[in-house]
Amino acid sequence: MISINNKDYNFSCFKFKKKLLDIIYKLGYKQPTDIQLKCIPYFLKGYDILGIAKTGSGKTASFILPILNNININFFNIQVLILVPTRELNIQITDSFKFFAKYDRRIKVLSLYGGQKYNIQILGLKNKPHIIVATPGRLLDYLKKNIINISLVKFLVIDEADEMLRMGFIKDVESIISNINSKHQTALFSATMPLAIKKIIGRFMNKPKEIILNLSKNNILPENIEQYYCLVNSWKNKLNILMKFLEVEEYTSVIIFVSTKLYTVKLSHFIEQKGYSCSAFNGDMNQKLREKILYDLKNSKISILVATDVASRGLDIKNISLVINYDLPIDIESYIHRIGRTGRAGKSGKTILFLSVRNKKFLFYIERHIKSRIKRISVPDDNFLINYRINKLSNLIKNNFYKNDKKYFFYKRILSSIIESSKLNNQEINIALLDLIYKKKYLI
Ligand code: ADP
Ligand code: MG
Repeated sequence: MISINNKDYNFSCFKFKKKLLDIIYKLGYKQPTDIQLKCIPYFLKGYDILGIAKTGSGKTASFILPILNNININFFNIQVLILVPTRELNIQITDSFKFFAKYDRRIKVLSLYGGQKYNIQILGLKNKPHIIVATPGRLLDYLKKNIINISLVKFLVIDEADEMLRMGFIKDVESIISNINSKHQTALFSATMPLAIKKIIGRFMNKPKEIILNLSKNNILPENIEQYYCLVNSWKNKLNILMKFLEVEEYTSVIIFVSTKLYTVKLSHFIEQKGYSCSAFNGDMNQKLREKILYDLKNSKISILVATDVASRGLDIKNISLVINYDLPIDIESYIHRIGRTGRAGKSGKTILFLSVRNKKFLFYIERHIKSRIKRISVPDDNFLINYRINKLSNLIKNNFYKNDKKYFFYKRILSSIIESSKLNNQEINIALLDLIYKKKYLI
């Protein structure tokens, strides 16, 4: 379960439209999360909002729900603008909007981002959408070409604001806002609050209601993420250690973060060659491919993603149970966002940070910042690995014997033929068979 401390409240406390409420319950949301409980009433009343809460705490619905409730469907201009830093986040938020808006087919949502063909988006604009989800670059492009008119926007949301700032979008955001002429409500959401955000609050917002959760308390990360670090001393060693963890850790899916696009490709090839289903993920890949990879990851066709920080923001993929920081994150915010890809919606997650002794200072720095300890995990040693393999292979074989399987007649014939035509005894035949299984990487 996602962290909800509001057992006394359910979604009917917001007095949403009945149809919207039905959809919320249908999705399986029972109680609002803390950030939703605190933001939604202010949002509904028309206040500007600054919402700071941990990753995975439900910030998206904190703005989608009140916006859908208050939107005027008979007003055929762009009336809602959501700014997001990355394409993936754009698609995710657009999908959520579309899902919650299902109760009324007239509500139109359009997403605009770089990498998608202009003509599709321009066609979408002609269709007079009520809601636009956009990355700043592409939106500015349209504004400069006079293809879009956002002057009548009533609700503006800046999501993952810390990342917007980091990616240098702040000037773009400012120019975008200068195109809005009507009185509008602004909400800014972020998982962290660097100084730079405090500085822009006054510029973008009008006496916002500040809902800042957990930043001053003990732990700014979800409690259900177990964090570890592992000391590695050389580059070559690091790769071996990674493979050992991939072999013995129990996981549904893994994201391995590295620092360069080139290395996402190199490392994912290496891992694939070892028999895992693995893919690279970086900002140079075209949009279609990135979407397909995320789709495959969600549907467990891929179990390992080797990614740059482009995957660290906002992505909500529930089955990621392990995050490995193969290369160091560049700063504390990057660390928090990377590990926030696991432990989503209350599920448990594990993270391992690879660290050289030289970089131990960085560990202390993170610990100070997140106000909790990161435990040391040791590399699985050879003895452990051997026992692990023995167990795994023997269980695999034991669990694979069904007494009356019809195919077994055929196998029995093969066995008799081996016994007749060779001098191998039973044990030797078994060993030869195990060797075949082992080579086929049935261990993975
Ligand atoms: P954030 O933006 O804070 O990182 P998200 O908005 O992406 O988090 O939400 C994280 C996950 O929690 C999503 O899978 C979402 O569907 C789920 N979620 C959000 N609100 C609720 C709720 N009230 N009850 C149950 N699950 C929720
Ligand atoms: Mg978010």
